[in-house]
Order: sequence, then C-alpha cells, then structure tokens
Amino acid sequence: MVSRVIPVDAFDLVVFGGTGDLARRKILPALLRRYCVGQIPPNASIIGAARSGMERAEYQEFVRIALQEFVPEKTGTAELEGFLERVDYVQIDARGTDGWADLVARFPQDRIRAFYFSVSPVLFGDLAERIRSNGLVNDRTRIVVEKPFGRDLATAKALNAALAAHFDESEIYRIDHYLGKETVQNLMAVRFGNMLFEPLWNSQYVDHIQITVAETVGVGGRGEYYDQSGAMRDMVQNHLMQLLCLIAMEPPAKFDPDAVRDEKLKVIRALGEVAPYHIARGQYEAVPSNPQAQPSYREAVGNPRSTTESYVALKAHVSNWRWAGTPFYLRTGKRLSARSSTIDVMFKDAPHSIFGESAGRHANRLSIRLQPNEGITLTVTIKEPGPGGMRLVDVPLDMTFAEALGPTAGETADAYERLIMDVIRGNQTLFMRGDEVEAAWAWTDPIIDGWNARGEVPEPYETGSSGPAKADQLIARDRRVWQGIKP
Ligand code: NAD
Repeated sequence: MVSRVIPVDAFDLVVFGGTGDLARRKILPALLRRYCVGQIPPNASIIGAARSGMERAEYQEFVRIALQEFVPEKTGTAELEGFLERVDYVQIDARGTDGWADLVARFPQDRIRAFYFSVSPVLFGDLAERIRSNGLVNDRTRIVVEKPFGRDLATAKALNAALAAHFDESEIYRIDHYLGKETVQNLMAVRFGNMLFEPLWNSQYVDHIQITVAETVGVGGRGEYYDQSGAMRDMVQNHLMQLLCLIAMEPPAKFDPDAVRDEKLKVIRALGEVAPYHIARGQYEAVPSNPQAQPSYREAVGNPRSTTESYVALKAHVSNWRWAGTPFYLRTGKRLSARSSTIDVMFKDAPHSIFGESAGRHANRLSIRLQPNEGITLTVTIKEPGPGGMRLVDVPLDMTFAEALGPTAGETADAYERLIMDVIRGNQTLFMRGDEVEAAWAWTDPIIDGWNARGEVPEPYETGSSGPAKADQLIARDRRVWQGIKP
C-alpha cells in the first residue's frame, strides 16, 4: 500500500536550539524525510537559531553532517542538496537582544510561521516574549515546545502562564512524541472505527489493562538531568499517561483537537489516588561481569546516594462508570530485558466453560505494540487441532503493520515527521493541551511527594531483568501476571 502524501502550505520554520542534540537527531532528519517524499514545498524555509556563531554555509555543513549520520540513505543525493538549499541560520540569544533583528529579516513573506523551542524550558518564556515583541507573530503562527513541560504542577503552571502571556492556546503545540506514533493513532482507529471492540471496552468485559514501556538502555549521557527527574516524571506523567488516556477515554464526538483532548482530560481527572503499596520503584544494578560498560544507576548518574527511580510500576484506577473495578497496571523502566512498548487489554474469562475443568481457563487478550514491530495481536481461544477430545489453546491473530500494509507503512511512521507536519497544518489533535499537562502533574505530584516524605529508597534490580521483585508482587497480589517482557 502506498501512503498518500499531501503537500503542506509553504512555511517558515525556526528551530531554536538548531545546533542541539534533538535538532540533529530528530527534527532535521524528520524534515529531510518529509522533503524527500514531496510534502514540504520547495519554497519553504528552515532556519536554525542558536547561540553559536556560524555563517549560513557553516550551518548547512553542520546539517549535512547530521543528516549523513541520521538519514544515511540520502547521502550524496540531489534531494539532500535541495533540502540544504532551504536551510538558513541565525545566531541568536534567547535571553538578550542579539540576533533578533536578523531573524525578523528572514520573514519577507506573510505565511505560516512555526517556532520550534528545542531548548531548555527555562528559555520558553524569554523566547515567547521576544517572538511577540519583535513583531514576528502573524495569524498563522505556531510555537512548538518540547518535554519536559515542568517538573511538577507549580512549574508546569508557570510555564503555561509564561506562554499564555504571549500566545493563545490554539497557537501552542506541546509535543509528546508518543502521540505521533502510528500505532497510537491506530489505537483510536481500532477503538472508534470498528463495531467489534467498543461494546466490550468496559469493566464488564475487561479484567485489567497493562501498559508497559520497557527500555534496554540506561540513562546514558542524560544522567544529571535524569537523576533530577526519574521514571515517574520522565515517562509516566507524559507518555504512559497519554496512552492510558487514549485507551480509557470515551468516544469523542469527532476527531478534532478539542473534542479528543476534552475526553483525555476527563480520564486524567478521574484517576484515583494511588496507595503506596500499589507502587513499586526500582534502580538498576551494575552488570557484575562488566561493571565498566554497564554500571549501576547510581554510578551512571554520579550520585552514590541517589533515591531516584529508573523503574516504576503502579496500579491505577479510573473512577468512572466505564472503568470502575478494572485496574490499569503501568510500568516503565530502564536496563530491562527487552525494549518494548505495549498495551495489553486483558479480557475476562468466559462466564461458564461448557468444556469442563480440564479445558483450563482462557481469556482473550488484545496487545497493541507501539515498538518494536508495530502491530496488533488478538489472542483467541480455539480447539487444539487433532483427535483426542476437546483441548483448548490460545492462538494469536497477528497484524504486523509492515507485513499487512507493506514496507511503506513503516517508512511513514516516524513520530517527529508526523507531528511537525501537523504543526504546519495547524492540527493540534496529537498535542497536549495546557490543562491536560497540569492535570497529569496534579495526579503525579502527591505520589512523588509521598516518596520524599517517607524517605523511600527504590529497590535494586538486575540489569536485563523485568524489574524489581516488588513489581511482580504488586500484580501477583491480584492473581495476575505481567505480559510481555520477562526476566
Ligand atoms: P542541547 O543542549 O543539545 O541543545 C541546546 C540548544 O539550545 C543549542 O542549540 C544551544 O545553542 C541552544 N541554546 C542554549 N541557550 C541558548 C540561548 N540563550 N539562546 C539561544 N539558544 C540557546 O539540548 P537538546 O538535547 O537538543 O534538547 C533541547 C530540548 O529538547 C530540551 O528542553 C530537552 O529537554 C528537550 N528534549 C530533548 C530530547 C533529546 O533527545 N535530545 C528528547 C526530548 C526532549
């Protein structure tokens, strides 16, 4: 199946932090790929803006080197040259006056203007203020902000207020790249495009839901930042919470930004308090045979007494009519046995087995894989083939998108490509609204405050395991088991 590419209108996109890691690894590669498939019009312009003093040609060379590394298949192509022609650079100080007049001069036309804040959040307010006061805002202006959006409710409110002082909510795009993943949108298509699932999508038929985001990597070079954050702030408050919202929300009346975000917000507001015994926190240990290459969490972050978690699992409840009695188990961690982001919807057992005790217990499971190998598997119970009575067996009905839809389905799947094009198109559906982010912090803050008040220390877990023992106990107490990643 060939994906359809609808070109966007001509635009000027400024990437503040255009020399940074995120720009090199994600933003510029995503733009090049969209350019190569013909979605970006040839007269669009992409302007890197950062502190380093560079001429345009130097920045183009900087971008070329980044793209050779992250989009190697385009090295030496006419497409790459064409893309680089679109690239410009301005040296700018987000906190001062330097460079702003140069930036203003880069906007000869009144057309879509996007400002990507790929810089530390401490600069968001300064940038917003200067974009406005330098007269850069027209009626098709959007600003894009990256996570982390605050570290608690108070800081998120302050950031929202700093942006709201200069921009309308309809102009603000808060990125959570999880929402740009193909399967995440498919989640909505599966739920709301089929008759099959929605009638069963409630506590009468769903026993529980598991959301797992497991990584094999450690904190890497982000140690200092991560140690101030931890898995709860870095993953649960945003990515896992967004997945939970899409799984649990009521059908919006239409697929439009505020209709979808209103329903997501209701889910977050319906989340009950989480009791301390419904949470497990962990910190990974060094690999004994190779502590140099795979150090412990505490060594990796350079803080021998750190009490920050690199793993968290918890049991949450969405207190509304649809979900009363169906727990949501969330877990995420680093240095685990596998890299996997999966949502498992575990249906209840059939109310009565006509096949007797010996047939065993069987329940349907709908697994939605976000990565790797994006796809959906429905586990159904059938008769084990062959003679010898009625023995039941669970078999997967598997739909791997790359197989079902052809390799081009995978090619279009990069979250940043989709999200940046949505910014240009002015579609906020896959971006978080300010009140959503605040509601998410309002739920996570008491959990984190509780850990701090009780002086809780995370439980060590082995690198390459499925996490701390307490996480297994958390779900085993309810006579359930984690799906997917195993020790
Ligand atoms: P980075 O440190 O690599 O780059 C920072 C950029 O900001 C540089 O281009 C620098 O020149 C510019 N900058 C700093 N101070 C400035 C000032 N006063 N005026 C103008 N420009 C200034 O950071 P990064 O890793 O690219 O991350 C950027 C943002 O994106 C951060 O908020 C980060 O938390 C977020 N983020 C990064 C990643 C990632 O994978 N790198 C992932 C998600 C979110």
